[in-house]
Formats: sequence, C-alpha cells, structure tokens
Amino acid sequence: MLPEIPAAPTYRLCTLNGKDIYVKRDDLLPFSFGGNKARKARLFFEDILNSGADSVVTYGSGSSNHCRVVANLAAANGMPCTVISPRESDRDTFNAQLIHGFGAGIRLCPVADVARTIEDELDRMREAGRRPYFIPGGGHGNLGTEAYVRCAEEIAEYESSNGIAFDRIFFASGTGTTQAGLVCGSWLLGRPWRVHGISIARKNPRGGDIVLASVKEYLKEKNVCFDPESIAKAVHFDDRFTDAGYGASSAYAAECIRTVMRSYGLPLDETYTGKAFFAMTQIFAEEIAGGEGRPETVLFVHTGGTPLFFDFLLNQTGR
Ligand SMILES: *Cc1c(COP(=O)(O)O)cnc(C)c1O
Repeated sequence: MLPEIPAAPTYRLCTLNGKDIYVKRDDLLPFSFGGNKARKARLFFEDILNSGADSVVTYGSGSSNHCRVVANLAAANGMPCTVISPRESDRDTFNAQLIHGFGAGIRLCPVADVARTIEDELDRMREAGRRPYFIPGGGHGNLGTEAYVRCAEEIAEYESSNGIAFDRIFFASGTGTTQAGLVCGSWLLGRPWRVHGISIARKNPRGGDIVLASVKEYLKEKNVCFDPESIAKAVHFDDRFTDAGYGASSAYAAECIRTVMRSYGLPLDETYTGKAFFAMTQIFAEEIAGGEGRPETVLFVHTGGTPLFFDFLLNQTGR
C-alpha cells in the first residue's frame, strides 16, 4: 500500500512586517499526520516494494516524525520494522507511543554505537533469511531530495495558477534533505526563490556543507550540469536560531507557538516549525531595524510534526 500524496493546501496566512506570508501545509498531507517525512517515506516505500525487500530498518529518536511515518507505512504493508534509536534521546512522546502502537521493534543503543548497531541488525536479519531495506535517518538521500523537488514543482504550479511569485521560502532544516530538494527544484525550474533553511540543530560550516553535498549528489544523479559556485550561493543554511539544540524547549519558540495557534489556528512545535517560524519573524524584524524591510511575498513551508505540538501542549499544562 502506497498513500496518495496530493498537493498540500497553500494559502495566504497573514501580512507581517510588510510581507505577504503564505503557508504550504505539508502537515496536512493525508497519511500519518503528514509532514515532510510522509513525502519522503512515500518514495522510499515505492523503492522498497520494487526492490523485493521484506522488512525495514531505520534510525531516529523516539520523538522522530520520520520513524513514526516509516513504522506506520511498514505496518500498513505488513512488514516488520526495526527502529535503531539512541538511548540518550529516548523520551516518551506521542510519536514514541505511535511507533510502539505500529508494532515496530525499537533497539536502543548509545549514540556512539549507532552505525555498528545498524550493521549488526541488518546482518542478523539477513542471517534469519530476511531481505531488509535500510532507510537513512530522516529519509536522507536522493529519494528524500526528490520528494522536495516535487514539492518545489507544486509551489511553482501554485504561483502560476494564482498569478503570484514568491521571493523567499522559509522552513525548518534538519538533515537538510528538504532544503536540498527545494534548492534543486528552484534550480531546475528556473525560479528565483531565496530558499532560506532555518537550522534546528546543526551549525555551519557542517550544516550548510551537508545541504550542498546533497544538492550536488542529486543533480549528478539526474545528469544536470551546474555551476558549483552558483549552487553554493543558493544554499542559505541559517544556524543562528538553534537555541539549546535538537528538541530542547525554547522560550522564544514557545511564545511564538502560542501566538501563531491563537492568531491563525496553525499548530507548530518546539523542535522544528516553531523555531523556524520564530526565526522568520526575527529576520524580518532585523531587516526592518536595518532599514532593509521591503514588501515581499514569502512562503512558509509547514514541514509537519503535529504529534510534537501535542507534546508541547502537554508539557505546558503539566498534565
Ligand atoms: C525532519 C523534520 C524537519 C527537517 O527536515 P530535513 O529534511 O531533515 O531537513 C523539519 N520539520 C519537521 C516537522 C520534521 O519532522
């Protein structure tokens, strides 16, 4: 079973600091609470079903949206699924409960042993006569990039049919696969978007380098000629808003999440989308203070994580 991924709803959200802000609701994609991991996992499962594999292994923390979607798709296809998870970030979250509920096996290991544990798990399964397929953490790789090249196509279609043109695109950037896809998409479609990834954890130069490597890997696979310098200039990986790191709560993000929910009925979370939305408003405020504020049409890609919104709510109310 492969879920349909129709174009995600896109609409004008508000005007903020002279910018027209539109939102693309990838969180509303209709499988397992959607999100960018649903887009990516859809393509990985297409590959899994074509490859004749009979079981799935992936990697991620217990709060991972990626592991939730993969465990759900594995269950829907009657395939055993094992999640290798770092013990250090093991937390009881709604995603963790869903992953358990889908019957995925969770193998905890120290974060330093992740690579070895993945190899060991794959070996054990092969010895037991199975044909396992490994999905990299977060759905990283050319298939994940491809998922966001297709999203870029949807964005371009939205522009054409609504007679608008986006100047900038903001979103939360983690492994950078989503960003790589949007950069490749804007390149292939000849769109002048400034694709602005807000890092939720990684610092530069590593974070930006990984995005750039993913962009090049994808364009090479597609035999697309590119000028390395212009491609490097198209990667804006902003590491100024990582706060206390992956998954850590942040007072700024928390305030932003409350305001955006109250004002627009739009749920965000502390790990990804709350950080990115807050960063976007901060960047506009800085530009205005620096005398550079000008009217623009901006797209915020809501990359999902609805279960994390409820973790936030639970932590707020302390129930
Ligand atoms: C994983 C995730 C991201 C980051 O996506 P990458 O492709 O890894 O950069 C952003 N937002 C949400 C909600 C996610 O689950």
